[in-house]
Amino acid sequence: MRIPESTIQQVLHGSNIIDVVGQYVTLRAKGKNHWGVCPFHSEKTPSFSVNEDKQIFHCFGCHAGGNVFKFLMEYKRISYVEAIQELAAPLGIQIRYEEKADEKETSELDELLDLNEEVCTLFSTELFENTANKHALEYLTKRNLKEVSGSGMPLLTGCSCITIC
Ligand code: ZN
Repeated sequence: MRIPESTIQQVLHGSNIIDVVGQYVTLRAKGKNHWGVCPFHSEKTPSFSVNEDKQIFHCFGCHAGGNVFKFLMEYKRISYVEAIQELAAPLGIQIRYEEKADEKETSELDELLDLNEEVCTLFSTELFENTANKHALEYLTKRNLKEVSGSGMPLLTGCSCITIC
């Protein structure tokens, strides 16, 4: 199960890290950052900063840091997918999951097509360009195999063998 990158970006751009972190940590604006007491380590003086421009958090005490997803993952101890789901819901963003199995099948099919093309090229080259095989070519031409392939060249040219099969 995978969430499309476009959906992740949509959720990221729809969320403001100040609002999200602000639900769990009391933040106070100071300079370019918002500051609060770090929820990830024990401290009295705030060294936990959130930057609205960059949409990231960083703690100068324990070096925790990242974007809004990372904050939710660490604060709530949830997975990356759960963090995305949690932010997508209030934004009304529907998540359509991509199946990993499909990707695998597609890449396997691509590999087979590539292999098929390579073999076609090899056979074609051997048949038409290797003079040692001219008897084979003569035989095939005599058998009128060019009609079978449907292309201008007899038997194997480029990927036309796929359509023959
Ligand atoms: Zn910290």
